Amino acid sequence: MTFAFGHIIGAWIVGKLYERVRNENISHYTWFFLLFGGIFPDIDFILDWALGTQIHRTITHSLLFILGSALLMYVFFTLYDNFKTSHKKENCQFALAFGAGMITHITIDFFSLQGVPLLWPSPLYFSVFGIGGYDSATSLLGGSVDILKAKVKLAVVDMALGTAWILYLWWRKRIKF
Ligand SMILES: [Zn+2]
Repeated sequence: MTFAFGHIIGAWIVGKLYERVRNENISHYTWFFLLFGGIFPDIDFILDWALGTQIHRTITHSLLFILGSALLMYVFFTLYDNFKTSHKKENCQFALAFGAGMITHITIDFFSLQGVPLLWPSPLYFSVFGIGGYDSATSLLGGSVDILKAKVKLAVVDMALGTAWILYLWWRKRIKF
């Protein structure tokens, strides 16, 4: 179970590795789409809480969703000519970065007990622990109090990670307050 900071840091590490390997800098806006893609699949939390649905770790954690939403983003920027940076190459970069961020997200979730429904609408969940059906006992709010307590601890670790990351960026003078 990884929360927002863990996912955003994961996408950031992927971006930094890419910059190092390719020896080129990722543009300002492309960084945005990479990090946004890194947390985007968990938008289902907000939908569940706002609409009372139960779609967390379903469609938004599937290959179909990643391909579909990256393609939609490409089409959107291509059609929306007035966007300041509208340029074929950049549109493609935005969509690829967004997709790469989402792939990073489900790769991280792959290392959780719950796993990810990669082939949704197939009901199979894939994780480092194996392939199986959906187990509500491993979901954030659907399990026992003990599981919930363990997840609250992980959420605190996530906040600590995020705090350390922001302080690191400040220390390296990458951000100013
Ligand atoms: Zn997730």
